[in-house]
Amino acid sequence: MNIVVQKFGGTSVRNLKCMKQVLEKVLVPYNKGNKVVVVLSAMSGETNRLLGLADEWSSTPDKAELDSLVSTGEQVSTALFTMLLKDKGIKARSLLGFQAPIKTNSAFTRARILNIDNEKIKSMLEEYDILVVAGFQGCDENQRITTLGRGGSDTSAVAIAAVLKAEVCEIFTDVPGVFTTDPNICSQARKLDTVTYDEMLEMASMGAKVLQIRSVEFAKKYNVKVHVRSTFSDEIGTYVTQEDKKMESLLVSGIAYDKDQARITLARVKDVPGVSASLFTPIAEQGILVDMIVQNPSRDGRTDMTFTVPRADLNKTLEIIDSIREEMGTEEVLYDKNVCKISVIGVGMRNHSGVASKAFKALREDNINILMISTSEIKITCLIEEKYTELAIRTLHNTFGLDQSAVEENLN
Ligand code: ASP
Ligand code: MG
Repeated sequence: MNIVVQKFGGTSVRNLKCMKQVLEKVLVPYNKGNKVVVVLSAMSGETNRLLGLADEWSSTPDKAELDSLVSTGEQVSTALFTMLLKDKGIKARSLLGFQAPIKTNSAFTRARILNIDNEKIKSMLEEYDILVVAGFQGCDENQRITTLGRGGSDTSAVAIAAVLKAEVCEIFTDVPGVFTTDPNICSQARKLDTVTYDEMLEMASMGAKVLQIRSVEFAKKYNVKVHVRSTFSDEIGTYVTQEDKKMESLLVSGIAYDKDQARITLARVKDVPGVSASLFTPIAEQGILVDMIVQNPSRDGRTDMTFTVPRADLNKTLEIIDSIREEMGTEEVLYDKNVCKISVIGVGMRNHSGVASKAFKALREDNINILMISTSEIKITCLIEEKYTELAIRTLHNTFGLDQSAVEENLN
């Protein structure tokens, strides 16, 4: 049995007209004789509307009830879409998370998938040609409804594709694919034909919203071929896949940015064993994600410690620091909200030197000061002042030959 998984986001199912376009897309693999599992999001705006209701009703909405509430968005879209299929005489049915079942842990609002019954879904595919599965939702061992976090339908789709060993997992959205950078900022941005799982993970962790991070982790772990493409055109999109030899020639594949950062410096903390643990343990316990961390070499037994946290967590982090200030022995706490993280991403830099210096030189030419630097095998990240974000993106995009015009020149 050849199985294709197709996921459609909220803008693709937002009304009848769009759902009819979705129908056209679903008929493509169906008409070729494939069994199709369609995973749908809620109609766009619906999840936010439901979250708004919860906020109106309660200042601290119960998380289990919240999941029961927001999961209804996907129940609506899957039922409506299945009606369209049945009107066409297609053997189809909708399938909610608890019916599949998609078993998760009990971390309401951010549950993780533990297990999907592939035998059950496969036997249903004997009876039905198309199954329309509600994305984003699952159920825990107590039969309570859970959800997978914002954007979680991507993860539902990739996980289902993994257990069914589907040919491909097509993620249909309102953009043509994955871009070298944000096209709203850089008019020279272009669609990538392929991107590796690792690059996509780095892009997603920088806030590129096209795929939920968890879905990329799943795809990588189970080697699911993911194709990100538009519902509203027939164009081929971007394949997210394993690294292959050809890709190595591409040094840099994208420039990502994240404005949702704040920088904190603890000046002159005691440089003794355990100081970092005392600082970062209570921060982690509050669920705050620390990203870049830099500690300077000490002079006279004291050192400066600088790190970044999501902007929304700045105040909470400062409160934590205040409560351990004496223990840390810090003389001053500095912070800055107006910063932005810019990353140059590419698997090609694994085998090449000079990428970092090239990025630094480009920023120098535009007189952009670098506040912090961190690197991984396939990423160079610079923290800069927020007001230079657009300029830095365009400069780096051009420097690494990613501009549309550069590619066109190469073709001529
Ligand atoms: N409807 C959910 C959300 O808006 C899940 C999804 O669309 O992926 O986050
Ligand atoms: Mg999404």
